[in-house]
Parts: sequence; C-alpha cells; structure tokens
Amino acid sequence: MNDANLRQQVVSTAGQMASLGLNRGTSGNVGARSTDGLLVTPSGVPAEHITLDGIVSLSMAGEVIGKGRPTSEWRIHRDILQARPEVHAVVHAHSPFATTLACLGMDIPPFHYMIAVAGGDTIRCTQYALFGTQALSNHALTALADRKACLLGNHGMIAIGRDLDEALSIAVEVESLCEQYWRALQIGQPRCLSPDEMHAVLDRFKGYGRWGQTNDPALTPNDHLTP
Ligand code: 13P
Ligand code: ZN
Repeated sequence: MNDANLRQQVVSTAGQMASLGLNRGTSGNVGARSTDGLLVTPSGVPAEHITLDGIVSLSMAGEVIGKGRPTSEWRIHRDILQARPEVHAVVHAHSPFATTLACLGMDIPPFHYMIAVAGGDTIRCTQYALFGTQALSNHALTALADRKACLLGNHGMIAIGRDLDEALSIAVEVESLCEQYWRALQIGQPRCLSPDEMHAVLDRFKGYGRWGQTNDPALTPNDHLTP
C-alpha cells in the first residue's frame, strides 16, 4: 500500500474506533508503518476532526517529517514497529471495559477461548506509567511479548497487527472479551481453561480464517484473523 492510501487508512481507522465506541474525544491513537518510518494520528485532536493533512509522518528516530504534532504516544508506536518486524499497525484505545479492568491492574485469564486472539493464554496488563513516556512504552513492549494486545495499567489497551484492519479487529475483540469477563465476575468466579485446553485453541487458530491454507507450515498461532 502506498503512503497516500495508508494515510487515508489511518484517518479511517481512528474514525472507526470512535464510531465503534472504542474511543471518545481525544482518547487513543493510531499508527502504521510507512516508507519513511511511521504515520501517526496528531496529538489532542478528536477522531472526527482528524484530516489526511493532519496525519503526522515520523522517521524511526522519532523526528517529524514535514509538519504536525504527533500523538503523545508516538514512542509506543515507534518502539513496537521497531521491535516487531511482523507488525505494521498499532491502535491504542481507552475503551470502557478494557480500561475498567486495566484500572484494577488485572491480567485477563483464559476465561474464554477467544483470549487466544491476542496470541497466548492471557492478555497481560502493564503497571502504571505516565502517558507519553518512554517508561510506558517499555512496559507495553514487555507486556506485548508473543502477544497482539495488552492492557495499560490505569489507562487503556493496545492492539497490534500485520495491518490496520487486523489491529482494529483485535481491539474490538479484546474490548468484547473484557466486557464478558467483567460480566462474568458480577455473578461468580469464571472457570478458566487449562494450559492444555488453550494450547488446543491456539493450535486450531493456526488455520482459522485461511480457508484452503490450513496445512500451510508458514502459519503461526498469530496468523489467524478474528472472525
Ligand atoms: P494523544 O491525543 O496525544 O494521542 O493522546 C491520547 C492518549 O490516549 C494518550 O495516551
Ligand atoms: Zn491513552
């Protein structure tokens, strides 16, 4: 995809996050790998006011190419793209249920098999760090090891993917899971799946959504798409 189309996709992803209820006001941000480094949403601009021109281009060194003030979380976007070559898109949200659980500092256990969407048998939650800091980015990178999503303590969530569509679909699924977990906790203690049960789910996900390619040895547990 060329950078003009990518810019359009960053704008549209930020808009979808707002319309899906994942973000409100100026909460959250979007980033994607570009030819020059990365494209990110501007800081402090509500999704409905983000324009093509407002998207900020950054080098991998974090320098603005052209103009604009990048999201305060540009380090998170840059550091993930730098550390994870298979990842090309990052979305950050303050979605209601993920943020509620993140305020309790809880890792999400395998209470439902779809936890595997995030690449493993838990969705980790980081400790708290001030927004926009290198410390927060470092915590996020650690919590994302072998994963495609994490919660940010007392803050929100991050989802990543091979493209913006995948990152957004994982964010939607993580928010649903957090809502389901929150609901289950209201009426009891959910039974969690065992390591063997989750292993079987991760194995089955290898070919999920890739009809006709289920024997492709190149597919990894992270290569499925959410339904
Ligand atoms: P920005 O407006 O700078 O992207 O900040 C929003 C946010 O969610 C900070 O964590
Ligand atoms: Zn935030």
